[in-house]
Amino acid sequence: MSSNDGKELKEKLFKDRKSGWENLSDEELEKIFRFADEYMYYLNASKTEKEIVQNSKEILIKNGFVDISEKETLNPGDKVFYVNRGRCLYAAVIGTDNTENGFKIVAAHCDSPRIDLKQNPLYEENGLGMLKTHYYGGIKKYQWTNIPLSIHGTVVKSDGEKVNICIGENETDPIFTISDLLPHLAQEQMERKLKDGVQGEELNVLMGSIPYDCDEVSERVKLNILKLLNDRYGIKEVDFISSEIELVPAFKAKSTGLDYSMIAGYGQDDKVCCYTGLRAILDTTYPRKTALCIITDKEEVGFNGVSGMESRIFDTFVLEILEKTGNTKSSSLYKAFSKTQALSADVDAAFNPNFAYAFEKNNTAYLGKGMSLVKYTGSRGKSGASEAPAELVAELRKIFDEANAKYQSCELGRVDKGGGGTIALTLANRGMDVVDLGVPVMGMHSPYEITSKFDVYQAYKGYRAFFNN
Ligand code: MN
Ligand code: MN
Repeated sequence: MSSNDGKELKEKLFKDRKSGWENLSDEELEKIFRFADEYMYYLNASKTEKEIVQNSKEILIKNGFVDISEKETLNPGDKVFYVNRGRCLYAAVIGTDNTENGFKIVAAHCDSPRIDLKQNPLYEENGLGMLKTHYYGGIKKYQWTNIPLSIHGTVVKSDGEKVNICIGENETDPIFTISDLLPHLAQEQMERKLKDGVQGEELNVLMGSIPYDCDEVSERVKLNILKLLNDRYGIKEVDFISSEIELVPAFKAKSTGLDYSMIAGYGQDDKVCCYTGLRAILDTTYPRKTALCIITDKEEVGFNGVSGMESRIFDTFVLEILEKTGNTKSSSLYKAFSKTQALSADVDAAFNPNFAYAFEKNNTAYLGKGMSLVKYTGSRGKSGASEAPAELVAELRKIFDEANAKYQSCELGRVDKGGGGTIALTLANRGMDVVDLGVPVMGMHSPYEITSKFDVYQAYKGYRAFFNN
């Protein structure tokens, strides 16, 4: 055999593991970079789940979607949405096939790891105004110190009035921060295990330092902060009880690398799939199966609760679609679910050369090699996993190949190194065929997560092809 035969044979039999950046046309490159700019704009404007839902709703309305309550009946091509308590959103484009024959679902989540305020947050300590916090989701706590943080949230007063707060995003706004101990005095702290390097109750935020001008009262710094809050928002200390206030990184999403090929940004897990899923459904007209785009909440804390994927509010929305397309039998819901294909649109861990030992190189996702297709998640012997059926994966391979949407097959890190789960489980439990398909992220759950612009664009192409096939 000549060496040429070997080359050909290898090309025929080996899996393509090339970088997605190779052999791209100028036109394709331009599309990738333009899409990335639009995505970064969305990221910067939507840092919390409520902001994501609000901005996504506005994008849907601009593109002809209406609230499902405005429709008496639904017909092929109709575009509707439902917002659940401002925290999660479902959008649908009605297909030509009977809705009882199932849906095509792309489901992403809008909540990201962050620092929440406790309900009695404000206190004064030696002349400094501070805020007590309780972190949300799985974080490495030390990563959240000494970085600029912005405050986002809502305070609901007892008369029902809602006050929105957003401080730290504009150039002239102050920012907030959690200060770590200086190395000079950290001898004792440095002996702690990394996971305890900064502990939960040490994640207290600097809020102010000017005392109120009256030396007849105590806690004057705290008083001055409350006065500022009262002047600006009309709130009192007790109003924090009924508030949802989050601290998120104040910095903006940015192109990363000398070649601009990557994106650093907060909360790309899983806003990258919210955005690509949303863009995909905007490009879906008269699909065969009714297309559903889900932007759910509470994934990072186990997907329970009224706005999580476990919530029956989603089933209620689907029931409304079934009813308004003429399927009024009580069995229709689970019949439809049992014929549904779903993509759990969530991110996967990208290989990190600094910590190569944590990854198994044959089965890990790499930045720039396309969407991450994860057949099963879970940990320790696939425990807690929802494994996708091979039949579904095969069908998707065909769809993505035809659409030239590049993907890579991977799992989260080495066996027994850790693991994680996604909402694939709760979708599968409803009777759907489901697989995880998202975007590889480096430094997941850190304040500044990294994706590849190439992969982001492939996710959009992949979801779009899935909806339209
Ligand atoms: Mn996620
Ligand atoms: Mn996550």
